[in-house]
Amino acid sequence: MDYGTVTESVLKDLESLLGAHNVAVDEEKRRAYSLDEVAEQFWDRPYCADVVVFPENTQHVSAILAYANERRIPVTPRGAGTGLSGGAVPAYGGIVMAFDRMNRILEVDLENLTATAEPGVVTADIQAAAARHGLEYAGDPCSGDVSFIGGNVAENAGGNKVIKYGTTGANVLALEVVLPSGEVTWFGGKRRKDVTGLDLVHLIAGSEGTLGVVTKVVVKLVPRQEYVVDLLVPFPGVDEAIGFVPRVIRETGLIPSSLEFMDKTSLDLVSRYIGSSLPFADAEAHLIIQLEGGDDDVLADQYERIGDLCFEGGALEVFVADNRNFRDQLWKARKNISEAIIALYRKYTKEDLAVPTSAIPDLMKGIERVCHTYGLESANFGHVGDGNMHVNILAGEDREDWREAIEEARLDLYRLTVELGGTLSGEHGIGLKRKKYLPMFLDEPQMRLIRGIKRVFDPNMILNPGKILD
Ligand SMILES: Cc1cc2nc3c(=O)[nH]c(=O)nc-3n(C[C@H](O)[C@H](O)[C@H](O)COP(=O)(O)OP(=O)(O)OC[C@H]3O[C@@H](n4cnc5c(N)ncnc54)[C@H](O)[C@@H]3O)c2cc1C
Repeated sequence: MDYGTVTESVLKDLESLLGAHNVAVDEEKRRAYSLDEVAEQFWDRPYCADVVVFPENTQHVSAILAYANERRIPVTPRGAGTGLSGGAVPAYGGIVMAFDRMNRILEVDLENLTATAEPGVVTADIQAAAARHGLEYAGDPCSGDVSFIGGNVAENAGGNKVIKYGTTGANVLALEVVLPSGEVTWFGGKRRKDVTGLDLVHLIAGSEGTLGVVTKVVVKLVPRQEYVVDLLVPFPGVDEAIGFVPRVIRETGLIPSSLEFMDKTSLDLVSRYIGSSLPFADAEAHLIIQLEGGDDDVLADQYERIGDLCFEGGALEVFVADNRNFRDQLWKARKNISEAIIALYRKYTKEDLAVPTSAIPDLMKGIERVCHTYGLESANFGHVGDGNMHVNILAGEDREDWREAIEEARLDLYRLTVELGGTLSGEHGIGLKRKKYLPMFLDEPQMRLIRGIKRVFDPNMILNPGKILD
């Protein structure tokens, strides 16, 4: 694909469209805005934007896209850059469109129980705005203190509460979207039902910024539960912990708001990274089971029932985190595992496999077998209640052939995941990092449809080119 270049005259035009203060060309900024959380050593070459623009409103976004579309200049939307698939990396250079300056919560609508936000609002700020009205926005990725709502929508981010409330997409009612042509449109509305035409809201959710740019997001709010309790449950083995997961819902009739898993290696790494550990640090696996409700006594009865079941299922202990300190301590450990791996290893791959929950035990055995075959280690953690396992394959610093070994291991794991009815990514997306493996998981008719949809939205292929598809 031949793309237009960003010349001096293009820069002048961008400055007149947005104001010079919203256009950055200094190298430091261009580099900083060209990376996400995939470390640079994983790319075959460095990627760098020619210019970074900071739109302040929908009109700016529309003007940039119309201009770029006419000149076939690539545009890569960017949220907070916490993505784990290289989605915000400008694969073809050109313009990076960063949403740092579209960061207003426009409305909390108490009649319709919705909040409307610009794409650069930090996820936790929407949660806090809802909480001020006794409400909750239930989208809750572990990166929520940093990530932007626009990035969450584009990745259809999951997180800690999917088991009860669904992914980001399930919590989105409407989107204002700017098409690559510059046209502005709304998909969906403040309504809970809508079968008029096709469901374009949920086509955009998870489209990784390849079909349109999200400029406003309407999310639904739910009543905030007054009481929250987390159970920290160490198990002697991974099998016991994983095998216990389906019993929680089946045998108690309760849906926890979170059901998270950490293996021993993950806990060891994060303990080193944050400088503190959790009880029973030498247990092979820990579960975090979060319950919430409006009545303290009812909640106590529920966690006692689950606690008894944990012991029946072989738990070593059940810790009840019913105070802020303990809860913060255990979620700090859970939320920092990903960062710990980045800080402590240079040679690794972070995978994001999702399988039917009944297949998790086979997936875990497969991970062990594959790592053993190639002389690698693994650290596994994730949203086990959703069947979503963050599999981190680790190579020692002295391993010269780490790229080849990890590549073989991940191919074996992908084949196993397909056999188990699983998928390549549960929540982190395909982006630049995983696109070459997509045909292992999607058949030709599906690939053809995806290519066709991209062409309909973006015939000039200017929007986030090189992502999901080539
Ligand atoms: C420590 C850590 C924990 C994490 N935990 C989770 C987790 O629990 N669950 C989870 O799902 N993910 C998690 N992630 C991954 C990441 O945080 C999510 O994918 C998040 O949604 C990305 O948001 P962002 O604002 O950083 O987007 P970016 O990384 O900047 O961009 C992500 C994608 O969105 C596109 N995009 C951004 N803004 C827009 C827009 N306005 N319109 C159209 N496209 C746009 C970009 O082009 C790119 O393709 C985690 C990451 C880290 C580092």
